[in-house]
Amino acid sequence: MGSLKGYDIDSKDALLEAVRVYHIHSNVEYRIETSNQTSLSLKCKKGCSWKLRARLNPYSTSWFISKYNGKHENCVLGSDTVSAGHIHLTSSGFINVIRNCVSKDPLIKVSVVRQMVKDRFGIEVTYKLAWCTKQQALLSIYGTREDSYSLLPRFLKAPSIEGLKFCKPLIAIEGKHLYGYYCHTLLTAIAQDVDKGIFLLAFSLVEKECITAWSWFKACIHKHVTQKMGLCIISDRYAGILATMEETKWQPPYAHHRLCLRHLLSNFNRAMGNVQLKKLFGRTVEQRQHVKVVEGLRAIRVAKREALFWIDEVGDMSMWSLCHDGDHRV
Ligand SMILES: [Zn+2]
Repeated sequence: MGSLKGYDIDSKDALLEAVRVYHIHSNVEYRIETSNQTSLSLKCKKGCSWKLRARLNPYSTSWFISKYNGKHENCVLGSDTVSAGHIHLTSSGFINVIRNCVSKDPLIKVSVVRQMVKDRFGIEVTYKLAWCTKQQALLSIYGTREDSYSLLPRFLKAPSIEGLKFCKPLIAIEGKHLYGYYCHTLLTAIAQDVDKGIFLLAFSLVEKECITAWSWFKACIHKHVTQKMGLCIISDRYAGILATMEETKWQPPYAHHRLCLRHLLSNFNRAMGNVQLKKLFGRTVEQRQHVKVVEGLRAIRVAKREALFWIDEVGDMSMWSLCHDGDHRV
């Protein structure tokens, strides 16, 4: 930083950034004497004659340097090497260096952040400082977790109840665990339009998936969304859902429970550990003739007897066989 008096700079932040970089590189430190919306005054921390004063340009948003005495006198800290204890080595000081990269790749590794700081300032920073820098950059780009979480309802908003009139009389319900910072469960009820497009009807965030949560959620669907007779409910075999399906309003002729075949086949595969058997069961559930279903079950029994017991425990064939479905899921 040579003679800078009268120099114009875009903003106070840009000026401070330049001063900080200079001081880190030179291994000297400054202190802020005054800093407000219109003026900035910096002095040498060790008390030599180095000083910089800047003011907001009254005719624009830029700042100009009104006074600059740009040479420190014997103020270099310790050795020539910049140490991690340098007061201007703060995470906020590095954010500008990594902001673009964090914006492009929020999962950027801390080791990469450390390397970027090293390339820019020629110094090694601790893992903790690099980690803090990354967190602050993420915060400045994306806001807080609380901000993101509060946006969730808006993303899930849909003209749901009115639109159900134009959908099939079918509702798929599912609970999805949220991972990470928030440990809630998202309960959703979706319908399907005539083009097989997904149509969100209702959702709720609950503390955990349990009978009480499902009973309340389904009661809300019954009260606010639909009381249509002969509704088909598709779900997995989660115990909380199975228990609430016993309630009269979810029993025939009011509602017909069918199992999500994707979940069913996946669970079958996990229990049996046999992909060929899963394919066989997959073909069986899709058969449209009773005799073909029986043939499929027989082949499964020949291949693995326990598999047939497993299927038997799932429940009535109407729950999983399209041939015995009564055309409720179509
Ligand atoms: Zn000095």
